[in-house]
Amino acid sequence: MYVVATPIGNLGDISLRALETLRGVDLVACEDTRHARQLLDHHGIKVPTLALHQHNENQAAEKLVRLLGDGRRVALVSDAGTPGVSDPGARAVAAVRAAGFRVIPLPGPNAAITALSAAGLADPRFLFVGFLPAKVGARRTAIQELADVDAALVFYEAPHRVMETVADLVALLEPQRTLVIARELTKLFEQIASMPLAQASAWLAADANHQRGEFVLVVSAPLPREGMDAETERVLAALLAELPVKQAAKLAAEITGQPKNALYARALELKARPL
Ligand code: SAM
Repeated sequence: MYVVATPIGNLGDISLRALETLRGVDLVACEDTRHARQLLDHHGIKVPTLALHQHNENQAAEKLVRLLGDGRRVALVSDAGTPGVSDPGARAVAAVRAAGFRVIPLPGPNAAITALSAAGLADPRFLFVGFLPAKVGARRTAIQELADVDAALVFYEAPHRVMETVADLVALLEPQRTLVIARELTKLFEQIASMPLAQASAWLAADANHQRGEFVLVVSAPLPREGMDAETERVLAALLAELPVKQAAKLAAEITGQPKNALYARALELKARPL
């Protein structure tokens, strides 16, 4: 089964290999048959389609396995971008591989990677989060759990929730972190704006257009603590796992040469952090 990435807006963003593969298969499994038909028609591809979405993925996957068993060639696409990335596909891929068939991914558009490619963040580490929970409490808890992750955070968000999600990011993450708002990527009104998190709500509110379309939000990694590098932090955390705060800070100061007071303050923070 070929897993084929398709455009996230601009219909030209489809690889030669993807078109050749879609032309050569017996069936295209897709999230929404009408949506897929538009793409296939645009390229003059007449292959039949089969709906495979979050509500029927298991049954559709069984059907795909039967078809593969009959020697049919099958491709899987989603409505936009890479199947299985915040989109259906994972269960079908697992079922097909479990049945002993090869899964062949065809790389192509993905909104998160497209946003990162234009975000201009020097640190290469990132965590792809995708959509945060829609309910306020669950969303805030999720953001709190991500606050100390030592990497950029990449979120997907819908236009009707972008204001409240950004407000929560502003409230719960360090305000100096950079937020890159990547809107309508590859489309007519594409916009990529970069700002300190503290200014993000004002930027969104400044123009109704800023809240329209599809969004990727990228928050840069937490700033390194002044005077405390990752190695010092590691030593302190290791000592803290075995010793009381005061003793851990004293020993960490001897090992690393960093000021004892700063280490003591950081040790208290680490100790207070929920597990
Ligand atoms: N599978 C897709 C991918 O590979 O990126 C993601 C599908 S997910 C259901 C849709 C979400 O991806 C949108 O709500 C938005 O957050 C993001 N997205 C998709 N296309 C986008 C675009 N052109 N510009 C910005 N964000 C986009």
